[in-house]
Amino acid sequence: MTKKINCAFCEGTGKDPFELLSSISDCMVCSGSGTTEVSEPMKKCIFCNGSGKNPLGARVPCIVCGGKGNNYSQGNSKCTYCKGTGKSSDGLPCTRCKGIGLQ
Ligand SMILES: [Zn+2]
Ligand SMILES: [Zn+2]
Ligand SMILES: [Zn+2]
Repeated sequence: MTKKINCAFCEGTGKDPFELLSSISDCMVCSGSGTTEVSEPMKKCIFCNGSGKNPLGARVPCIVCGGKGNNYSQGNSKCTYCKGTGKSSDGLPCTRCKGIGLQ
């Protein structure tokens, strides 16, 4: 089961939100379509707070959700390792839950 959702990285516009190459560049996450597909059950990406953007500051898609803003996860309880934040102490994705924050 996959669900079609608005691309979080470009907010559904299909354009590169950071205009890295030029202002008419297609979004690298959805290839310009403005939508992406995520397998269900999906949960909002805790690592980027659903923005699809890398919270570490680089102008690239979130390394956990790949820019979709949502992750496929069967888990419903918080990862005990990162306490559900998805981040380890150095700000990188939690090694236990891969940054999803659920287990
Ligand atoms: Zn996009
Ligand atoms: Zn994310
Ligand atoms: Zn974790």
